Amino acid sequence: MREGQLTFFGGVGKSGGVQVLYGKGNQGLLFDFGVEHSSLLFPKQLTLYEPVGATPGRELRQFLLGGMTAPLLQLYDPEQIKVLDTQKVREVWGDREFPSYEQLSLFIGHMHTDHNAVLPYAKPDLAVYMNHDSYSLYRGMVAGGHSPDTAARIQACGDLSVVDFGEFTMQIVEMDHNATGAAGILIDDGVHKIAYTGDWRHHGKHPEKIERFIRLCREQRVDLLITEGTRLAADPSAEVSRQMTEDELLAGYSNIVKESEGLVYLQMSPRDLERMADMIALAKDNGREIVMEASHALIWHNANREGLRILEGHPALDAAIRVIDATVTSSMSMPYKTISLEELAERKNQYVYFFKFPDLAHMIELETLGGLQGRSHFIQSDYSVKLDHPDLTKYLKTFGMTGHSLCNGGHAHPEAIADMIAGIAPKSVITLHSRHPRSQHTRGIYAYHPEKGETVTVSSILASATHAGNRP
Ligand SMILES: [Zn+2]
Ligand SMILES: [Zn+2]
Repeated sequence: MREGQLTFFGGVGKSGGVQVLYGKGNQGLLFDFGVEHSSLLFPKQLTLYEPVGATPGRELRQFLLGGMTAPLLQLYDPEQIKVLDTQKVREVWGDREFPSYEQLSLFIGHMHTDHNAVLPYAKPDLAVYMNHDSYSLYRGMVAGGHSPDTAARIQACGDLSVVDFGEFTMQIVEMDHNATGAAGILIDDGVHKIAYTGDWRHHGKHPEKIERFIRLCREQRVDLLITEGTRLAADPSAEVSRQMTEDELLAGYSNIVKESEGLVYLQMSPRDLERMADMIALAKDNGREIVMEASHALIWHNANREGLRILEGHPALDAAIRVIDATVTSSMSMPYKTISLEELAERKNQYVYFFKFPDLAHMIELETLGGLQGRSHFIQSDYSVKLDHPDLTKYLKTFGMTGHSLCNGGHAHPEAIADMIAGIAPKSVITLHSRHPRSQHTRGIYAYHPEKGETVTVSSILASATHAGNRP
């Protein structure tokens, strides 16, 4: 019987796009299903400014012919790859032979494009596992038009639940990242234990979740850890800046809302629903009402309707929300009351506006109509369009608005990664989702550096670890 092995299809030496296939016997599990940030096609959700995307209806063909997703055709919707020259797809991967498994399943760690972009093109009824709150967020994203739906069979799993595939088990462990519901997994095949965490951070709202992951992995004596290394610099001795904690960030936000005399524009990621909830609640605490752009409102409403465990009992759930009427399209079924730009302009000091960059032109009306000119504030909070974006700067200058950047990112500091490695003390560690994986300090733990397209048995990685004599 075939022993446990790993094949690396993506995320090797690149930021994002982690696609690793673990297989044993006749069963395989692919974890994460995204497209790298630096791929030929910058996935369209990554930037809202002049987005470049795959050609509608031909996305999957372009992902496959561009070598951006695993060439395992049993993962995909056959309708989407009709008349695809599969020999060309093989050639893209240098005609390599890849392991094939009778049964393939998928785990998706979180709802960022570099981890889930291919999900809408999955084979109908393909078994896809994800953490409960990731699933709720995905339903919100589909309702808000931020992702196409999928015909795959998604199973939303509770935190710490275990899925038994027969040859191996997979335990889902919730992490902390700026996409709600982000989770890692622990694979146990009876011989080896492998831990995988996609994107994570220790400076976020829930450091205790990261500490719990470390503790669980250590208790279960994980042999191999696979982690992200997004923030690693080319020069391993370079100083990597510290990020503020989520609590510091929220305190900064609360102060701006308290002090602002005009409208507060807030540009944040609607995939970080916990930050969204906290910012809604803090706006209310400071006497402000909430107004949203329509797709933000749909994500918020539908994810919560599905049930977000992380927000159970959160005060933001009762908040009344108004939606800018001009952002509602005819295909949307909007559960909230709308408000016009004219009405909002008259009541600038009463609202926080959850804003979307392409709606910059709203400022022309909001900042010339009503009173309180030159008193509004604009907050950029971990969004892809930064405060120094020339088009944004132009608006802030024209209308005399004050700009603020409140960001702490979703990724672990290299020292936090080193702490995780030392805390788990695996026999070997693999750093993916990084342009400079060799810059990671592993505190004496053997680092294995796979190549894109490589298949390697878990036992041979661990044997080289023992050989290297680097076991702690
Ligand atoms: Zn990522
Ligand atoms: Zn992410």
